[in-house]
Amino acid sequence: MTERPWLKLYPENIPHTLQYEEMPVQEYLTRSAKTFPDKTAIHFMGKDISYKELYESSLKFANYLKSLGVQKGDRVAIMLPNSPQSVIGYYGILYAGGIVVQTNPLYTERELQYQMKDSGAKIILAMDILYPRIMKVQQETDLENVIITGIKDYLPFPKNLIYPFIQKKQYGFSVKVEHRGMSHLFTEVMKVATPERIEVPFNFEEDLALLQYTGGTTGFPKGVMLTHKNLISNASMCEKWLYKIEKGEETVMGILPLFHVYGMTTVLILSVMQGNKMVLLPKFDVETALKTIDKQKPTIFPGAPTLYIGLLNHPDVSKYDLSSIKACVSGSAPLPVDVQDRFERVTGGKLVEGYGLTETSPITHANFLWDIDRVKGSIGVPWPDTEAAILSMETGEPVPAGEKGEIAIKGPQVMKGYWKRPEDTEMSFRDGWFLTGDIGYMDENGYFYIADRKKDMIIAGGFNIYPREVEEVLYEHDAVMECVVAGVPDPYRGETVKAYIVLKEGATVTEEELNKFCRQHLASFKVPRLYEFRTELPKTAIGKILRRTLIEEEKNKLKEE
Ligand code: AMP
Repeated sequence: MTERPWLKLYPENIPHTLQYEEMPVQEYLTRSAKTFPDKTAIHFMGKDISYKELYESSLKFANYLKSLGVQKGDRVAIMLPNSPQSVIGYYGILYAGGIVVQTNPLYTERELQYQMKDSGAKIILAMDILYPRIMKVQQETDLENVIITGIKDYLPFPKNLIYPFIQKKQYGFSVKVEHRGMSHLFTEVMKVATPERIEVPFNFEEDLALLQYTGGTTGFPKGVMLTHKNLISNASMCEKWLYKIEKGEETVMGILPLFHVYGMTTVLILSVMQGNKMVLLPKFDVETALKTIDKQKPTIFPGAPTLYIGLLNHPDVSKYDLSSIKACVSGSAPLPVDVQDRFERVTGGKLVEGYGLTETSPITHANFLWDIDRVKGSIGVPWPDTEAAILSMETGEPVPAGEKGEIAIKGPQVMKGYWKRPEDTEMSFRDGWFLTGDIGYMDENGYFYIADRKKDMIIAGGFNIYPREVEEVLYEHDAVMECVVAGVPDPYRGETVKAYIVLKEGATVTEEELNKFCRQHLASFKVPRLYEFRTELPKTAIGKILRRTLIEEEKNKLKEE
């Protein structure tokens, strides 16, 4: 075992090691529904849903899935923004013994098709506006059933009546679900299905709860296999880290997307585990978020730097009462110290930086929230039961404090592997250590710092973008001879996507045309915001394009300004 200097820093309320209740993720909902049946589990756009209702609706969903043939280990996809249905669907799939495949609702046909084919999902629960997109890929995938729901299904009267008009205005179409024998309406499911329990054999260590797609270090989308043990252990660590919060008494702000592992563990699982109330917002709109905090008084607010920066920079931030917020852990990207300080001043609560990855369910490190000051610029210390080491990039051996290397993790939250990719799984582990692809160092006290990224991933506004996926689309354009995509510094999004293009001889294309082309094939957050046309790209002697050189050029330009 490597040295763990951080353990002596732990306040006495945080144990070094934890006992985990070996229950499946969904049974925490069963327990909360029994303990607090009438308490609000979800607040969504003016409507409250109790634990009892959430439990029964999830069981109904599970039984409907069973009637469609779902058995233990079958993959069922969810393509929804944060909404009651996304929570009901999630727990329903688990109650039926299935594995949840989370899908980003922004995915284009190409991205969706890839994920459905790879996961082998036969059923998808999706938003009505996504129905035409799903129908287009259905032939190319194993999808046999689509369950459709709309935001309006859980809006209170009269918002539910007005919503279809808003939707038509927003998206330019209203949705007509064709009954081809494979399309089902969520509202019907809730009417016809019964909330009976389904007995499914269960193995805490081995059974998968989730396939969560990410690029890992190579950038190629892969399904991260997360077991019930992975998720429960990480949520339990989170519970201990937040030792001052009161079970069943807290309100959790759910702006982070629940289809990302960070929102899923800290909002969807932890909140239900504790019997707290989650306040869900379907998208991040700064003003709505401020109004919601003012009214719903959330106490816990997991987020990403862009969310906190967005709220702080709203011109009317001082008009809202944000003083209910007690604890926030920021992940996904570096959190500027100035943002931390300002956010703490405005709310009176604590905002600390943490770190993690999809492959680690996700959290491995964080600063302490209480009793011990946070350390500026650090991602904090490893969590209970979590070992972390810095491994030399040359030898793979642990390096002494202060020296840089790749951050490696061992712990119960580390994934089982990549779905159907044993070679990728093997490459991402060395001597039992999971290799994160992030470069960092540890100081003598045991605080960790991120210095760089070995992988090419771009993080823009909390979303991950893999250059290769964007480059592949650009290469499909007739005018493009060569291209490279890089994450360049951006004051608001942290990084932004920039494409450097060399055109074929005699070819012409405008930025707008390339942008339109990218939009057809990529989710909007992946589409380059900047384009630069060049006659050649910097390359190594063997012809590898030097993405890093271009990023350094951008950083230098900023320094000169
Ligand atoms: P994801 O798999 O989407 O959760 O992305 C994980 C990646 O986000 C990590 O490998 C890091 O590169 C990055 N990341 C997470 N937290 C931080 C942080 N506090 N500072 C810098 N990068 C971070």
